[in-house]
Amino acid sequence: MIEDKTPQKTSIAQLGEFGLIDYLTQHFEISNESTVKGIGDDAAVLDFGNKKVVVSTDLLIEGVHFDLAYMPLKHLGYKAISVNVSDIYAMNAKATQVTVSIAVSNRFPLEALEELYAGITLASKQFGVDVIGGDTTSSQKGLIISVTALGEAEENTVVYRNGANENDLLVVSGDLGAAYMGLQVLEREKQVFMVNPNNQPDLDEYTYLIERQLKPEARKDVPEILKALEIVPTAMIDISDGLSSEILHLSKQSNVGCNLFEDKLPLDPQFINVCEEFNIDSTTIALNGGEDYELLFTIKMDDYDKLKGNPHFTVIGHMTAASEGCHLVTRANTKIELKARGWNALTEE
Ligand code: ADP
Ligand code: MG
Repeated sequence: MIEDKTPQKTSIAQLGEFGLIDYLTQHFEISNESTVKGIGDDAAVLDFGNKKVVVSTDLLIEGVHFDLAYMPLKHLGYKAISVNVSDIYAMNAKATQVTVSIAVSNRFPLEALEELYAGITLASKQFGVDVIGGDTTSSQKGLIISVTALGEAEENTVVYRNGANENDLLVVSGDLGAAYMGLQVLEREKQVFMVNPNNQPDLDEYTYLIERQLKPEARKDVPEILKALEIVPTAMIDISDGLSSEILHLSKQSNVGCNLFEDKLPLDPQFINVCEEFNIDSTTIALNGGEDYELLFTIKMDDYDKLKGNPHFTVIGHMTAASEGCHLVTRANTKIELKARGWNALTEE
């Protein structure tokens, strides 16, 4: 499209449902062998041979899960795919297909939906998934996106939440809490902007945190690295609601307890700085912040040597008998019971 000073606003009503679908889906390509038929028929056709098929769905609602005041539509499209394939990676599986369904009010011009689909296209390339279908409908107000992701796994390497055993080590990929602080920075800038729309925010110091919030990268690499290291985790989950909450899910479903060590939590320097600036305790945010989309998993103690020193992973604790419960061992060596506050609860404080 040719750039114009006045952004174009093509009404989606003008195109009609089928015109809109054709327009939005015209650039999708197929790259996975398991996709036999993608968009264009009454249903997609898939063939996974002798693999196990993994399926997950998420729903994103404007005003509940995202705010278009600081979420560019392209980022939203990207994030909608990323958070879904994250659930597939959490099964130690490879993501292969997604379906994308949208409900939009007519306040969105075609150009806005094009942006959304540019983000979806970018993510589908990044994560190597084929967009094989969806549905398009109107909504009274706002935007709703639902994504279903499919993936494939070997029967003997698929990983559930319930396989952790006493003495297993608790491991996390990447670092924690940054996405939450990115949201805090964006919320603050939104308030400043509402008071003074001419204010141009300087966000250089916060780039990593804002990226983590607006463009979360699902850990496609983790199942691949684990395979190369010849590690099959005993249990795994992705961190969408906050570390504490996910540890409690793993522990409960595996019927074990857990000791988590505060001094082991992997934190980015930019995250630590911003916590100081906002006068917020970094451990609280690392535990409850949410939307990190890192993977949390347990491994047998015997596998420790294979993973030791790997820059992608940090051992943050170990599993115990269920009767011991789940605790944070602080830097001062006191034990605090882990509670699932989640990030929703946090914002109400
Ligand atoms: P039906 O009437 O059978 O629901 P549609 O006309 O809604 O079929 O869809 C036509 C094709 O386009 C189907 O393959 C469907 O999966 C796909 N499709 C519809 N909406 C979307 C969308 N928002 N994103 C991706 N694919 C879509
Ligand atoms: Mg339809």
